[in-house]
Parts: sequence; structure tokens; C-alpha cells
Amino acid sequence: MHFDLKAVIFDMDGVLYDSMPAHDLSWREAMDEFGLKYLPNEFFLQEGRLGHATINAIFQRNLNRESTSEEEEKIYARKSELFRQYNNDETMPGARETLEYVQQEGLIPILVTGSGQPTLLDRLATHFPGAFTPDTMVTAFNVKQGKPHPEPFLKGLEMGGNLQPNQAIVIENAPLGIEAAVKAGIFTIAVNTGPLDDSVLKDAGASIVFHSMPELTAAMPEILHLTRTIRV
Ligand code: MG
Repeated sequence: MHFDLKAVIFDMDGVLYDSMPAHDLSWREAMDEFGLKYLPNEFFLQEGRLGHATINAIFQRNLNRESTSEEEEKIYARKSELFRQYNNDETMPGARETLEYVQQEGLIPILVTGSGQPTLLDRLATHFPGAFTPDTMVTAFNVKQGKPHPEPFLKGLEMGGNLQPNQAIVIENAPLGIEAAVKAGIFTIAVNTGPLDDSVLKDAGASIVFHSMPELTAAMPEILHLTRTIRV
């Protein structure tokens, strides 16, 4: 196997935006309001799933049944409302620099997120001007199956110009996102910006784990150099 790198696929929450603390808090409060219990770090472990899939998993564990689409809509609407209150729009330090470097190297940045939250999706163009277009963004609105299914990343490859898996690398922070990208056959770099152990991200299939976006930014020239020279 060798790389023929054309694109770098970025996850959004926890990679481009420091939004996971707000997601976690708004999920927990929404579940508390609906009397549903969750596990420690559940929303970091579930990160990347479509909203309805997260809610369904919690229903099955709490109530031994699937959630209805009405329940899913109601809870996700409440969660989104809380997220709008708690989210501070903070971008991850190093995210802009990494995107700029990728573009400067002639690679296409592609966004692959499970998010369906207009709060952040609508602001990407403001925070990361010129990085993504509607044609290079996979969101909750254009997939049937969310992460950990490979569909979002396969769709990302397609949007990059019908790319093969060896023509892209993925930057992810969440275990289910990593699992999805690896299932799509793409080399996956983890950036551990949350509370989970590195081992969770490695077990999900990440090839390297960085601990912050600036750490990744600093390593990007070496990573790109390696993709141009190694044969596996
Ligand atoms: Mg993420």
C-alpha cells in the first residue's frame, strides 16, 4: 500500500471546535430532564453517532425498548437548545493553522461530521473561511447511517472527487469516528482532546494518537512527508 494523498478529512466537534464540553453537558441535562440514566463518559464514547442513535441506545438500556421518532425529535430538540446556550463558539487552538497548512500543500480539506446542529455548521464559513464548501461537507443531513458506520467517510471520499481510501487521511477525536474511518479503509490519526484514555482511541483503530491540535499542527509537515515517501 502507498499513499497518493489528495485530501485530509476533518471531524468537527473536538477537532475543529472545542465544543465537546458543551455537547456533553447539554446531553446530560437533556437526559436528566427526561429521567434517563447514562454511563460515565457516555457522550464522549457515543460521540459521532447521529443524535437519534445516541438517544435510541439510551432508551434500550433504560427502558428495554427503541425510542420512537417523536421521542427522538423532542429530546434532540431540547439537547440542541441547551447546546446553543452552552456552546461558546471556541475553535480548537491549532485547527485553523492545520487547515491552512493542508490547503497550502494543495490538499483538499473535507469535513465529515455526525452533527446536525446548525449552531456550528452555519458558522464554519465564518470561523474557517474558505476551508469548506457545501460540496466538501458531510453532515447528519446527507447520510443514512452515521458513525461508526463507514458511510460518512465513504461519502467524504466521494465528495473529494471519487477518491480511493489511500488518497486521504482522517483526523478524528472520537472512538466511533475512528472506527468508521478505519472501516472505510482510511489511515486515521487521533487527536485526544477529551477525557478518554489514549487506549480507547488506539483500540478503535487509530494509527497515531496526538494530544492536542497544536501537537498535530507541528507534526503535519512530517506526516505529509511520510505519506509521500513510505511504502507499506
Ligand atoms: Mg469529534
